[in-house]
Amino acid sequence: MNIKWSTYRLNCIHPFGISRSTYSFYDVVYVYLKDGDIIGRGEAAPSARYNEFHDSIINQLNSYKDWVLPDGNLEDTWSFLKKRSGKIKSLEAAFSMAVLDWWCQKNQQSVGSYFDVPEKPALLTSFTIAIGELNLLPKKIAEAKEYPILKVKLGTDNDKEIMNIIRNETDKIVRVDANEGWTLESGIEMCYWLADRNVEFIEQPLPAKDVDITAKLKEESPLPIIADENSLFSSDIPGIAHAFDGINIKLMKCGSLFEAHKMITTANKYNLKIMLGCMVESSVGITAASHLSPFVDYADLDGHILIDNDPYRGTIVNEGSLILPKGVGLGISKHTGMPEYLL
Ligand SMILES: [Mg+2]
Repeated sequence: MNIKWSTYRLNCIHPFGISRSTYSFYDVVYVYLKDGDIIGRGEAAPSARYNEFHDSIINQLNSYKDWVLPDGNLEDTWSFLKKRSGKIKSLEAAFSMAVLDWWCQKNQQSVGSYFDVPEKPALLTSFTIAIGELNLLPKKIAEAKEYPILKVKLGTDNDKEIMNIIRNETDKIVRVDANEGWTLESGIEMCYWLADRNVEFIEQPLPAKDVDITAKLKEESPLPIIADENSLFSSDIPGIAHAFDGINIKLMKCGSLFEAHKMITTANKYNLKIMLGCMVESSVGITAASHLSPFVDYADLDGHILIDNDPYRGTIVNEGSLILPKGVGLGISKHTGMPEYLL
């Protein structure tokens, strides 16, 4: 089996602003495992919040001269690749996708069936309205017409103004992500204010270091509080379960589909709600995560519909519903008209 990799720049349809940053593009790294006719694909979408960058991923991959992969089973190949991730979680996530895509194609099963997912109706994903120029909000809301649930990025100095503009345009369900932008005081006020405005829950209201303060907010808040920056790995869950009603799992944070599955099991033990989230990423990463969607309560898997140059096609979003591809492995194919990177 051979391995190859390449960077690729995803262009955002609108600049993607959250409480701490704004980007108009994101550089991701694709990893390819080739075994005869089978190509296993993975995607690393590194996040600066977690100090991960595409160039450090490329340096990490280039640091090994010898890439002779073990000929054999899933466990050996995964263990070989994981050791070479340099603890870069987004790279580890890409390896886990590629290895499962390869293994499941070889064994004629889907990645979902590998994890023994239950039969469930399609989950709805939210569609993200990022922070940006306020006068563009009505246009963004109009463009999001087909999506029944919006995720709104707050944690700014003009949160109420943003919500008022949105509520002038639509009364559909909104999920709010404050991306650590509030304090206990502003959080309590905002949770009450938003509870009257058809908001379903609040994601990561306070800085990740403030777990016990978040527990106080949870006691006061009429809305459920979901952890994102506080829930990276399954090992985080026991320490934060008192402060949150649920967790957001992202492959790029936790490092693999295997660890994401472990987070699901652990969250269930603590009676936490579960959301599957994403970075701005293409269909490879989104499709991988969506294979676990029958296990969870909420999906926020819209990264691939926030960009206009997705090279691949896998899970599609139809009026908000996540429609998983049929077929084996991840079920990824090349997007019509786009070049195959990079074999
Ligand atoms: Mg978030």
